Amino acid sequence: PMTLVGKKALVTGGSRGIGAAIAKTLAAEGAAVAITYEKSKDQADAVVLEIKALGRIAVAIQADSADTGAIQASVDKAVAELGGLDILVNNAGIIRMNDLANMAIEDIQALLDVNVRGPIVTSKAALPHLKEGGSIITIGSYFADRVPYGVLGIYVATKSALTGFNQGLARELGPKGITANIVQPGSIDTDMNPANGPFGDPMRQLTALGRFGSGAEIGRAVAYLSSDKARYITGTTLTVDGGANA
Ligand code: NDP
Repeated sequence: PMTLVGKKALVTGGSRGIGAAIAKTLAAEGAAVAITYEKSKDQADAVVLEIKALGRIAVAIQADSADTGAIQASVDKAVAELGGLDILVNNAGIIRMNDLANMAIEDIQALLDVNVRGPIVTSKAALPHLKEGGSIITIGSYFADRVPYGVLGIYVATKSALTGFNQGLARELGPKGITANIVQPGSIDTDMNPANGPFGDPMRQLTALGRFGSGAEIGRAVAYLSSDKARYITGTTLTVDGGANA
């Protein structure tokens, strides 16, 4: 049986990659879904069409996760189009790899804006709409627990920051019966981290299972944590990395 019938979900960065897969998985479980995107309008529209083909409500909203006004407007629009909000998935994220010595200040700022400030501001905008049974799921990274390369340091700083934010959020929302959790993907085959790209083999070798994961494998973890089956799970982190950090 479907686990999210009647729920209304907003997935940031849902035009491609993990976010698109999360949006489709939540819809397959019965949810109505809004996605945001920054640049990929055609791909966002294609995700919406796929979800509508499942018989669910779907809407794509252009909103830069680095822009406070755009974030607020996107949450308001999602609530208006879906008729409420039960599930927020903070997925939109970027990667910039360089050692600290060589990383441009602009890249440091962009990482902090999109990966940390974005989820915080989006969660703040969503709070007034969430009610008992609601959930906030934030997409971190398995690198938050172990950093195999120096060029990942700033990116990982943004992802480990989410752990503390999530713990405080769980404390704040617990009395209302709303949960807050992190899902930390391992290497998932997307534009950001292609399984056949230059980092494919070393990333695969880190895993216990000997392969990249799929966006749908992250989507199923998010669907579980946002379902009524997971109401006692909050303030914690679920790492879905094929055993890479084992
Ligand atoms: P992709 O680069 O493949 O896709 C990123 C998605 O986020 C796109 O839909 C993109 O929209 C959107 N996005 C990026 N910047 C913004 C912005 N400023 N405002 C709004 N939307 C934005 O990444 P992945 O799917 O691989 O990654 C998704 C999340 O998972 C990220 O938080 C990433 O850090 C995390 N992650 C990924 C791993 C992996 O191996 N792939 C491993 C661990 C964590 P648009 O198409 O419009 O640009």
